[in-house]
Amino acid sequence: MTHDPLTETTFAERAREQLAKPFLRTAVPRATDHAANDLRARFADHDYEGLRARGADIRSATIADLQTHLDRLVAAFAANGVQVHMAADAAQARAHIRRICRDAGARRVVKVKSMATEEIELNPALIADGLTVTETDLGEYVVQLDNDRPSHIIAPIIHKTREEVRQSLSRVAGRELPDDASELTGFARETLRDAFMDADVGISGANFGVAESGTVVLVTNEGNGRMSTSMPRVHISLMGIERVLPRLDDLAVMLPLLTGAGTGQLITTYVTMISGPRGTNEPDGPEQMHVVLLDNGRRALLGTEYQDVLHCIRCGACQNVCPVYRQVGGHAYGWVYGGPIGAVLTPLFRGQQDGGELPQASSLCGACDDICPVKIPLHDLLLRLRRQRVDEGAAPFKERLVASVWAWAWSSAWRYRIVSGVASRLMQIGWVSRVLARRGPLAGWALGRSVPMPARRPFHRRRSDD
Ligand code: SF4
Repeated sequence: MTHDPLTETTFAERAREQLAKPFLRTAVPRATDHAANDLRARFADHDYEGLRARGADIRSATIADLQTHLDRLVAAFAANGVQVHMAADAAQARAHIRRICRDAGARRVVKVKSMATEEIELNPALIADGLTVTETDLGEYVVQLDNDRPSHIIAPIIHKTREEVRQSLSRVAGRELPDDASELTGFARETLRDAFMDADVGISGANFGVAESGTVVLVTNEGNGRMSTSMPRVHISLMGIERVLPRLDDLAVMLPLLTGAGTGQLITTYVTMISGPRGTNEPDGPEQMHVVLLDNGRRALLGTEYQDVLHCIRCGACQNVCPVYRQVGGHAYGWVYGGPIGAVLTPLFRGQQDGGELPQASSLCGACDDICPVKIPLHDLLLRLRRQRVDEGAAPFKERLVASVWAWAWSSAWRYRIVSGVASRLMQIGWVSRVLARRGPLAGWALGRSVPMPARRPFHRRRSDD
């Protein structure tokens, strides 16, 4: 594994580092609000809630019978001439892709943005094999140039200023490029075009895999998805096993949900549906098509209290509305997925020891539940993960001590009355606010807030006094 912020630093340390970047705290809310506003405007004349309900039903029924749909998908791929490879974990997935590249005698690879390839840390493995790897999504391309990490599922460089992007592209150009968005994208387009022309292998993810027809569906706003999957001799699609859909008809529901929640669009510029390699009489397309079906911890969630997280279609909407993500951005979460979905997936995929603190990074306001296009109860999942962390003894000593004292104090009526009476008195004379503001971990929080004043006669005394 390469540099791993999740194990090398704490959430608090990473968040502090991100909070020191003033641009991040304005850019992330601005960009994410844009998507949310577009969603409301574009779907104003549509029964969006009805669509959500249907989407939630489709995902729930599919995941409940995942193996059946996967078997159909694999059979349909095989019938279309697609070579299917099962990967139990990241290492197996990398090994399959490396072998396919080796067998193809590949030297150059182009990639479409894919969180699954980030999850298995594919690029370093391919580069170690001597391959030239080029990310072709503009945002991912800049991430690659800067040796950075994506910070949002849909918008990988949401954390970067235009000036930073200009500097990165200028380094490649060997000259100072102008501060003009169309000039910058024009330069990237020209540079990437050569990469498409020269590539031996194109690697993509899969937004969906349709079992009925054996079709990989890619949703993009740049033409790079089509170029990467049709120009090189070999196309490899890495698909999480949960991304299967039973029928083509399901796309009529799932596509607008994905594009609406993700970018506020009724439909993206490109929806690419690939059902196999080039046919005998077809003039273009890859000679070989491979699909690597990635488990990497997904199957283990079936039948557990976390199964619902497999309904996720990676739209990123929960990140857009999360008050924590909007302040600290995606890098604070330390792994591939940030925001509420990251706070759920990371401990499930990486274990409580590595990702157990992330579910604490939530105000539990429920905004993520309200926006999720497939109605995943993220808020409940976060609470379950918090409980599991305590049950497994993975919570830090200080946290367990405070919780134990709290439980002791409030588990009998007389202890509760004494403690709440003393606390109430201290709050009324302003002692609590003064202490909080002066020192301790809540000092920053208390600076901008006033502690609420408790009632002089608490509720539990009213009945006994009346
Ligand atoms: S949990 Fe829901 S809102 Fe978040 S990325 Fe997944 S589908 Fe989108």
